[in-house]
Amino acid sequence: MTAYTGDTHPSGEAQDAADTAANGAARRDDAVRAAVEQGLVGPDTPIIGLLDITGIRSSAAALHAAFDAVVAPGTPVLHAFAVKATPLVPVLRLLREEGLGAEVASAGELALARAAGVPPSRTVLDSPAKTPAELREALALGIAVNADNPQELARIDGLVQSAATRSPIGLRVNPQVGGGSIEALSTATATSKFGVALRDEGAREWVVRAYLDRPWLTRLHAHTGSQGIPLDLAARGAAQTYELAEEINERAGRRQIDTLDIGGGLPVNYASDAQSPAYAEYARLLARTVPGLFDGRYGLVTEFGRSLLAKHGVLLARVEYAKTAGGRAIAVTHAGVQIATRTVYAPATWPLRVGAYDAKGRPKAGPEVVQDVAGPACFAGDLLAEGRALPLLGQGDYVAALDTGAYNFAHHYAYNSLLRPGIYGFGPDGAGGVRFATVRTPQTLEEIVAESGGGHAGSLSEL
Ligand SMILES: *Cc1c(COP(=O)(O)O)cnc(C)c1O
Repeated sequence: MTAYTGDTHPSGEAQDAADTAANGAARRDDAVRAAVEQGLVGPDTPIIGLLDITGIRSSAAALHAAFDAVVAPGTPVLHAFAVKATPLVPVLRLLREEGLGAEVASAGELALARAAGVPPSRTVLDSPAKTPAELREALALGIAVNADNPQELARIDGLVQSAATRSPIGLRVNPQVGGGSIEALSTATATSKFGVALRDEGAREWVVRAYLDRPWLTRLHAHTGSQGIPLDLAARGAAQTYELAEEINERAGRRQIDTLDIGGGLPVNYASDAQSPAYAEYARLLARTVPGLFDGRYGLVTEFGRSLLAKHGVLLARVEYAKTAGGRAIAVTHAGVQIATRTVYAPATWPLRVGAYDAKGRPKAGPEVVQDVAGPACFAGDLLAEGRALPLLGQGDYVAALDTGAYNFAHHYAYNSLLRPGIYGFGPDGAGGVRFATVRTPQTLEEIVAESGGGHAGSLSEL
């Protein structure tokens, strides 16, 4: 990770960040205790997801402030939250109220954004596999669309000719600046599946011609960041996108491209409560690397997901049983592969911090013991954490999987037909306590049966 070494802001900002981290941890502890005291979690509801509304609002404000500080006054800027990070309607509504739009990548995500009331003018449709019907709907609604490849652009050609649209339309390019530490999340490798690979032979000229032939193609999109991508690599991706836009506009002899969509992908620190890198650090790095990006000639779209939500989610699960095997202490909980799928299947890439709380929801004290925190699924590798030093967990205690507000408990995996947990937002109750609001009700057994073909029980016997 690039350490920030630049201008005059950092010491105040470091202070701010430390404050934010401590406050976030204190709010989390209060919420865990309140969730236990208020019976939101307990013997009959052994797992819940919690979202820190104060933290989410503060991250949204930090994003606005970071870009406001570097962008020329009057520049149109749309921060479109990447819905895939936390696909929950109340979250999208909250972010809408905080001035964010939505980046969607499927019909389902678009439906969520619409249910949250995000207007089409503040919605961006990406996705490498849009169907004709999805494209037609987006263009009819006036949603911004980024085409992924030449075949998709050809489909859009047909649609644009057959019906007028207000949709701003762009093309996604892959600057091929290279990958980060996580192969599966590296969007800008030479062979990434996303966008038009800019350094492939003939590709750049094809892109320029595609714009010159289509006066309605007014945006350029790249999303090169992601977890595991160093900031300077992401900034280089933005720089190359900007340079391509400049080249196209020069060849067009006009400002055909009026908006640059620089994607999302700010990495998240999963090792402590510190929220680093900060949006401000990334925005200043962009301003230094690509000054022209912010001088007011281009409108801007960003698509941050993980960095807005990850730190503000806690998964809380009751220890059903505590046992030992081969000398190893094992806490058997309800948090496993169904809610922390990436962590369980790729623990070295996606380790999660785990907090220990007692049966009353208070931070657990006591000497640390190396133990496993296991999930409920029926395979041996279903471990939320393996060989982790924590105060010894006992039956009825709680474990908290931290930093799980994005790409975790809202991304249920149906293994063992385990029920999707309820998700609740928390905020201050105005009297020093904690108040909860339902974000998503827990799944019911009837729903499990219905989505597992319950309505077709006899269908196979009839064949
Ligand atoms: C996933 C994705 C994002 C968000 O990435 P984060 O790492 O969550 O910030 C933004 N844009 C596109 C096109 C994506 O696929």
